[in-house]
Amino acid sequence: MAISAVHLEADAFLVCMNHALSTEKEEVMGLCLGEMETDRIVHIHSVIILRRSDKRKDRVEISPEQLSAASTEAERLAELTGKPLLRVVGWYHSHPHITVWPSHVDVRTQAMYQMMDQGFVGLIFSCFIEDKNTKTGRVLYTCFQSTQAQKGAEYERVEVPVHVVPRDSVGKACLESAVELPRILCQEEQDTYRKIHSLSHLDPITKIHNGSVFTKNLCSQMSAVSGPLLQWLEDRLDQNQQNIADLQLEKEMLQLELASM
Ligand code: ZN
Repeated sequence: MAISAVHLEADAFLVCMNHALSTEKEEVMGLCLGEMETDRIVHIHSVIILRRSDKRKDRVEISPEQLSAASTEAERLAELTGKPLLRVVGWYHSHPHITVWPSHVDVRTQAMYQMMDQGFVGLIFSCFIEDKNTKTGRVLYTCFQSTQAQKGAEYERVEVPVHVVPRDSVGKACLESAVELPRILCQEEQDTYRKIHSLSHLDPITKIHNGSVFTKNLCSQMSAVSGPLLQWLEDRLDQNQQNIADLQLEKEMLQLELASM
């Protein structure tokens, strides 16, 4: 039973884009939380950003522990939002500097997930690619499932139409994921640094150099991710305060109108 379409809510889409654009050298990944409706449409409400244990190229693996933690989180959100059918419905990963289409490894990984859940979908965000005509950066995205033409044959990709559904606010779960991103990126840097620093045969100069690289990477993250995120949150706060003021004014007007009736 193939999925007919994916409806990706705009705030979840925003978190995926932020995540994909946070890392230029390696692929990043996460899990999608949502619901599958009887009409074979998957609705994605929020995403979980995953920490990478292996930063090698074209190596996106989700550990069983991460999958089980995501299921627990889905249960918590199901209760919080009153959506009992909420669960892990798919995964996403980025393709920095390369085509949006899934690799053979991606198609096989997707087939493995579909063995556990036929409705599972895969999303890919291709980023850091340049439009040859306008010389501006572009982000492309696609959604896919895997199929096998006949038993024993290679798995093939089936494209699933994906629609970004507009929303006039950012949901709590998406906001939490967006704020989680700088923390996860920082932890990954710390892990890498600790691993290298524990090597005992390194001479003092190399150790100082490694320390500087660690600091430099953290600073780059501050300017590329944490800074813009903080600005975005501050803008939202201003906007919310403006909305409160507008509503207060409207309330007073209505009260005046009521009094004069
Ligand atoms: Zn891939």
